[in-house]
Amino acid sequence: MTSACPACLGPDLRPFYTVERVPAASCLMLDDEAAARAFPAGELRLAVCESCGFVTNTAFDPALTRYEDDYEESQGCSPRFRDYAAELADGWVRRYGLAGKTVVELGCGKGDFLATLIASGVGHGIGIDPAVRTERIDPALRPRTTWIPGLFPEALETIDAEAVVCRHTLEHIAPVGAWLRTVRSAIGARTDTVVLFELPDVLRVLREGAFWDVYYEHCSYFSAGSLAALFRRSGFEPLDLRRTYDDQYLVIEARPVPAGRAPAGVDTGDRDDVLAAAGTFVARMEEARTHWRGRVRKVAASGGNVLLWGASSKAVGFLATLGDDARHVAAAVDINPHKQNRHLAGSGHRVVAPDAVPDLAPDLVIVMNPTYAAEIGRGLDARGVQTALETL
Ligand SMILES: [Zn+2]
Repeated sequence: MTSACPACLGPDLRPFYTVERVPAASCLMLDDEAAARAFPAGELRLAVCESCGFVTNTAFDPALTRYEDDYEESQGCSPRFRDYAAELADGWVRRYGLAGKTVVELGCGKGDFLATLIASGVGHGIGIDPAVRTERIDPALRPRTTWIPGLFPEALETIDAEAVVCRHTLEHIAPVGAWLRTVRSAIGARTDTVVLFELPDVLRVLREGAFWDVYYEHCSYFSAGSLAALFRRSGFEPLDLRRTYDDQYLVIEARPVPAGRAPAGVDTGDRDDVLAAAGTFVARMEEARTHWRGRVRKVAASGGNVLLWGASSKAVGFLATLGDDARHVAAAVDINPHKQNRHLAGSGHRVVAPDAVPDLAPDLVIVMNPTYAAEIGRGLDARGVQTALETL
């Protein structure tokens, strides 16, 4: 249980959203439906810090989450996501002169992005993640990569590299302030190391009432302002901070400042925006939930089939929050073969391949990530599937 802000240590965390039971893992695929349904649940109790605007799940229990090798966070199967990742990697290699250099990736997942960085010219990649599976790594990459199955900093105490990359990982860490200071001290005296982080933007989630983007593993939520402030407080100077991927993500690029020197620049100060958006989140979220409950009930009442497209954390969050109405959804479709024929934690929905969609004859396909809508529409057309296609 958290009582002070894990980012700024501010004393006032204002609670604004509670869900008593959500699956404690939303990327974990289970082979067995009954085991998926019986998956342990945790509690969401989101609170916003009145000092810095950081949002945290004060009921988060790290013992309930596990990031083992059946954790399937990889979005690398989507062409749209691959293009985005390649562009990001190219941009970082060019902007920070990383060709031929060494990059450490904290929370590298299955290693897709590190492979992309190598393809963009990085000389050597060191990836650390509890879910690393070396057998999935392209053998051609092995001489230029080092894979460490484990957690930072336990399995990697010092960082000696030109860049530290960390994508979609900080939001999984509860003691964010302490952790980022550990990153800073692991870099040590080396101030030429560039630090490149990417994570979801909480302001969008709150403003859109995007309840599908709130799930158990995400215990920490940042806005641009609270992220920049945390970096400064942890001994980093932000060089750039921007929104990417249809404004879903924040990308921050920073450098360590030498010990004893204060980082330059001022914080963007969006705390009041976050506080206001947190205040209206429940109303927005209820509105969205009522809409989707109505949609799936209506299709089910006329004997139709509903599918979700994207067996992602969003799907798990979406189904968990729909409650009883989740039974009107037949299955989740995903292009990742490692997810297919397995089950989502919590609701137990089966994950099917796109080629199974014609047989399921959907009347409504709900796209979990609007970014993929065009790609999915083409996939349905190519398979001769006539259906309504709607996005979250
Ligand atoms: Zn705070």
